[in-house]
Amino acid sequence: MGKALIIGCGGVASVAIHKCCQNSDVFTEICIASRTKSKCDALKAKLDGGATKITTAQVNADNVDELITLIETVKPDVVLNLALPYQDLTIMDACLATKTNYVDTANYEPIDTAKFEYKWQWDYHERFEKAGITALLGSGFDPGVTGVFSAYAMKHQFDEINYIDILDANAGDHGYPFATNFNPEINIREVSANGSYWEEGEWIETKPMEIKRVYNFPEIGEKDMYLLHHEELESLGQNIKGIKRIRFFMTFGESYLTHLKCLENVGMTSIEPIEFDGKMIVPLQFLAAVLPDPSTLGPRTKGKTNIGCIFRGKKDGQDKTYYLYNVCDHQKCYQEVGSQAISYTTGVPAMIGAMMVMTGEWQKPGVYNIEEFDPDPFMEALNKWGLPWQESFDPELVD
Ligand code: NDP
Repeated sequence: MGKALIIGCGGVASVAIHKCCQNSDVFTEICIASRTKSKCDALKAKLDGGATKITTAQVNADNVDELITLIETVKPDVVLNLALPYQDLTIMDACLATKTNYVDTANYEPIDTAKFEYKWQWDYHERFEKAGITALLGSGFDPGVTGVFSAYAMKHQFDEINYIDILDANAGDHGYPFATNFNPEINIREVSANGSYWEEGEWIETKPMEIKRVYNFPEIGEKDMYLLHHEELESLGQNIKGIKRIRFFMTFGESYLTHLKCLENVGMTSIEPIEFDGKMIVPLQFLAAVLPDPSTLGPRTKGKTNIGCIFRGKKDGQDKTYYLYNVCDHQKCYQEVGSQAISYTTGVPAMIGAMMVMTGEWQKPGVYNIEEFDPDPFMEALNKWGLPWQESFDPELVD
């Protein structure tokens, strides 16, 4: 069918690439390009021999000219950006210059401020529209599947959705006193930022970890969870009809929070550069370098994740509640693709998003968030490609 250029070769990319190779009818050819080419070559060596043809390349995705040359050489149908959020705009620029479709899993982040907002990427809408190419933003799990779940609930279950609570639980245990499940720098930026939620068209800001709830998750049990700001709140707030409030909660264990507090207290989570030994360094980047690499957590992590959305709204004039979620087992993911469930739950939807754009199922010139497309083929693909979803009409609610 077609060719994808995948940029980045970390934890999430590794899963997406395994899945592209399983889906060789669609991905007849892929090119893996990243900063460290040896990682791309090692993955290629592991996966070669299947029906998908794999090539590799070195690229600095901060450099638009390098990206343009790469895209012109590879001539992909879609670029799947699985590098870091800092590279979103340079990759979008290169896609525009070469008229190539674009898919990512995380919003653009300026390196010096933690923002988690879409405005920079939404600003590309008209240029993508004029160029006749599609940009699909946020095709991971959250954002990603949470947006697809919202579009599906809107299409099939509600006339209007008034409240959404996104609940992200990880009951996995990797045995380390402190480690992050995906890129440590991005993860710590996210959890140490102020929290916020969207209510009646406005952001309500909270202190980090100020709002705590306990929730009894299906297949996982009771967990402490904390309200965080999360990027999909911004797009869902605009795209879901009738919405009054959207919140995002993530579970954290006590040990994780104690370590994080301590690291914060000593200044290690700061993204302000400091001078050390005659060189400028960013404390958080240094911390990320000494923490375990998330892609090595796979063999050690046991337990399950449960990520989903609780919707409340109206159908035929009646109040209605609906919960859509996926449960994923860390060890099963590891056995299948050599990664833990956090990379798996992001890498599978990344592959599906690229597939939707490449097959033309989701083609719409411009820049769009995932909930702006027809959710049905994506929901079907989740069941087929390893992230089956479950539904409940009588879930416990979050107060
Ligand atoms: P990793 O740090 O494991 O991988 C990032 C990859 O990008 C590495 O291969 C790295 O290269 C490469 N890279 C970084 N900078 C550049 C550059 N300038 N040029 C070329 N390649 C570069 O991160 P993850 O796999 O954990 O995360 C990938 C993305 O997925 C992130 O944007 C993250 O925010 C997002 N994500 C989204 C989730 C969702 O549910 N929506 C959940 C989890 C993550 P090198 O090997 O040289 O370091």
